[in-house]
Amino acid sequence: MSPYLLTTGMCTQRGKPKFSHDGYIYVFDKLSQNRLTTFYRCEQKTRCKARIHVQNGQVIKLLNGHTHDPAKFTKINGDYIRLID
Ligand SMILES: [Zn+2]
Repeated sequence: MSPYLLTTGMCTQRGKPKFSHDGYIYVFDKLSQNRLTTFYRCEQKTRCKARIHVQNGQVIKLLNGHTHDPAKFTKINGDYIRLID
């Protein structure tokens, strides 16, 4: 069990929508053709190929594994704020 398991939620930091799951932060990539599924890719995309598919705020699919440790972040006023390493 990841110590970051309960960190699922939307990030509203500047720019593209973000999604956090199990301590990892994902950046919006695109919508599926039927617009039901949102595709996110790991924010560390230069070194990590992990992706997730999200429907109605629920992760329905995890693709590839992460090549790095989870980010550290905390929830403030409903937003997930990244902590400096
Ligand atoms: Zn990653």
